[in-house]
Amino acid sequence: MVRSTSSRIPSVDEILKTPPAQQAVERFGRSRAVHAIRHATAIVRREIGAGAALVPGAEAIAADALLWLETDARPNAQPVFNLTGTVLHTNLGRAILAEAAIDAAMIAMREAMALEFDLAQGKRGERDSLVRSLLCELTGAEDATVVNNNAAAVLLALNTLAKSKEAIVSRGELIEIGGAFRMPEIMARAGTRLIEVGTTNRTHEKDYAAAINSKTGLILKVHTSNYRIEGFTKSVSGKAVSTLAHAKNVPLLNDLGSGTLIDLARYGLTHEQTVAEAVAEGADLVTFSGDKLLGGPQAGFIVGRRDLIARLNRNPMKRALRIDKIRLAAIEATLRLYRDPDRLAERLPTLRMVARPLTEIEATATRLKPAVATAVGPGFVADVIACTSQIGSGSLPSEVLPSAGIALRATDTRGKGRALNALATALRALDQPVIGRIENDALILDLRCLEHEAAFVRNLATLSPEERR
Ligand SMILES: *Cc1c(COP(=O)(O)O)cnc(C)c1O
Repeated sequence: MVRSTSSRIPSVDEILKTPPAQQAVERFGRSRAVHAIRHATAIVRREIGAGAALVPGAEAIAADALLWLETDARPNAQPVFNLTGTVLHTNLGRAILAEAAIDAAMIAMREAMALEFDLAQGKRGERDSLVRSLLCELTGAEDATVVNNNAAAVLLALNTLAKSKEAIVSRGELIEIGGAFRMPEIMARAGTRLIEVGTTNRTHEKDYAAAINSKTGLILKVHTSNYRIEGFTKSVSGKAVSTLAHAKNVPLLNDLGSGTLIDLARYGLTHEQTVAEAVAEGADLVTFSGDKLLGGPQAGFIVGRRDLIARLNRNPMKRALRIDKIRLAAIEATLRLYRDPDRLAERLPTLRMVARPLTEIEATATRLKPAVATAVGPGFVADVIACTSQIGSGSLPSEVLPSAGIALRATDTRGKGRALNALATALRALDQPVIGRIENDALILDLRCLEHEAAFVRNLATLSPEERR
């Protein structure tokens, strides 16, 4: 950059006359341009105060201001390449939506829609009716409702059925999931008294039976989404708990967490109880997430008995937990895909990535290795490796998916930790940040979730070696 030797800092008016400043005004508006110029001038003043001998000219200051504006204009909601190996990564936004859902959401954003409007009658309708019949069809439930997320679904169900009453839960199911969702705390907020039964590893039918009394609001079963208790264990099946609950006339709420609408065994995964199976075995209400295995936008579904759903809908909390038209449109489109299970894995990115054949991931790794090696430079060795992905977000926690990726190791083993961290930082600073994982002295890029190879290679080309010092 050209630095003049004049000792005077150019005025804002002078700077505004230069081409980069004109460009800044054109692109960002006059007031933002002036703001940025003042900011750039303040930095120069500080540098002079700190003993800098050279004062930059008007054009150089304007160029700095323009760069600052350009950097600042990058959206905070930035797309990234998720190469962590976790398909449903909560910190990276969980499910990627199907094209059909994206189209539906786009229309909902652009147009007025019959959200709470009965087109046949020409009068006020209910927003749940956009998805109710699809949810009932896919789960076999009598009725259904939708709220902001599954945490909200559990909160609403507990508050409606067990406020100022007791909720019975096995000690083996008192889960905490990420982001401070702890079942005992949710219960307290719902105004429910938690009655723990059994022990961490063993709960029997008689434990539930002994806890039921006139103050019991419901029995809660929780899918132990993110851990497994192994060894000397005993839990009571949903079928047995539901038989007991019905004999005592107490509702059973089954929080499935991820919840899946199809048999995952189709894709070579462990069979996970489907929502329909949970309904069929007698749960009065079943709650599950929209953006976990289901592969839709963030949402919480509650399906089950019509009389209980009606009570949930009358709870004023429902209004505070409702979802918007954009997501409702996306949910409807996502659910419709489930009507054709044979083509679901093609159309639903979550399933497509979970079910992606290993040979295909390996081929991707082999194809991309040269480009990655070139981009990271001679400081690192790139190897195609076998690795394991996981579904994430508490879906099939014990399931590991054999995958393939590229491992990057520092050539110079002294200071390798620092070099790897610097590389990870540089990859996160790319136009589209690349997020991998560091494991055994290597930065691993798991390629299961990479679908846009050409864009990935173009993006890598902007990796500048200087950033890695
Ligand atoms: C993930 C999960 C929740 C919370 O669901 P969100 O959609 O993230 O709010 C609740 N219960 C269980 C068992 C879960 O796995």
